[in-house]
Amino acid sequence: MEKLNFLPEQYKTTDKLKINHNYLQKQFQDYPAIFKKIEKLIQVGDFTLGAEVDKFEKKYAELVGTKYALGVGSGTDALFLSLRSLDLQPGDEVITTPYTFYATIGAIVTAGGKPVFVDIKEDYNIDADLIEAAITSKTKAILPVHWSGNACDMDKIVAISEKYQIPIVEDACHGIMAEYKGRKLGSFGFGCFSMHPLKNLNVWGDGGVICLNDDNQYKKLSLMRNHGLVDRDTCEMWAYNSRLDTLQAIVANHLLEKIGFITDSRIANAQFFDQELGLIKGIKVPKRSQDKKAVYHIYVVRADRRDELVSYLTSHGIDAKIHYPVPMHLQPAAKKWGYKNGDFPVTEAVCKSVISFPVHEFISRDQQLEVISKIREFYL
Ligand SMILES: *Cc1c(COP(=O)(O)O)cnc(C)c1O
Repeated sequence: MEKLNFLPEQYKTTDKLKINHNYLQKQFQDYPAIFKKIEKLIQVGDFTLGAEVDKFEKKYAELVGTKYALGVGSGTDALFLSLRSLDLQPGDEVITTPYTFYATIGAIVTAGGKPVFVDIKEDYNIDADLIEAAITSKTKAILPVHWSGNACDMDKIVAISEKYQIPIVEDACHGIMAEYKGRKLGSFGFGCFSMHPLKNLNVWGDGGVICLNDDNQYKKLSLMRNHGLVDRDTCEMWAYNSRLDTLQAIVANHLLEKIGFITDSRIANAQFFDQELGLIKGIKVPKRSQDKKAVYHIYVVRADRRDELVSYLTSHGIDAKIHYPVPMHLQPAAKKWGYKNGDFPVTEAVCKSVISFPVHEFISRDQQLEVISKIREFYL
């Protein structure tokens, strides 16, 4: 059978493109410093939940402003374990958006839940005004996705969560350092983060974090990520193995020192794009809110003749991408829920028109100007 692995392709820097989304080689140029720390780990040997994981969790919780942070295997596992800890029963529902990455929905389903979709707004995030109508006696969680590191309308979502006593599981995988009215994303419930190589804070493989304030939830999830063991000989619950590797914690600790720079660069680059692309007829920049500090995991605008623009830019060496062309409710895996074209008009229109440009910390002003001038040229 043909091998089903398309991932290595994603990390190739092609010579064909001059302006790339991929910046990993540049980002880890100082890898010898990380190697030194890994050498120490090899001498000590605490490969699983070692001292560097403790250090990481402490720093991460401080950064997000929660009582606890738990290192887990991936962002998907952060979502899955959080949902699993709510003991979903067959038929239980989780409200979320169809405009997200597959992992959000995969986590709901593998945790035993059924996703109930509500449409998004023009800012690509869940329309909080539609949530209440989707609540049933089976609703066990509300799962807002802070798309591209831009906050959902948390005042409204928190109010609904309190009114119905339904917990919030935040997909903050794009949102490290992002804020809503001065409060960090990932601090409103179960705050789930990813450290996948293509995320703002990234490690050398997979890693994830759950941020929380509640003592009982913290205890339960600490057990769930480590076989349910309270000590070597005592298993309190049958559970999973989803720990943040000590080796990845070393990489994460190293990068945490640069997260301020990474975040500020992305914001400055995005602001420059906003200012310039906002002037181009054919491009629609979403309205930005003063209440929200967005961190631009990806930079997404809407474009007329989107597919043509993507080909045009690509042929001129610019890595324009589509995150993502097909919404979750229209995926083959979603067939059994009976959704159809037209169910979520904003999501569907967004999927047909969004385009993303690189805004990471290694994009130069000149490169941005080139992207802008090529887009202008296209619409002439
Ligand atoms: C990346 C991502 C995830 C999953 O994170 P992994 O660490 O890759 O498992 C979940 N949700 C969103 C929105 C993501 O972009």
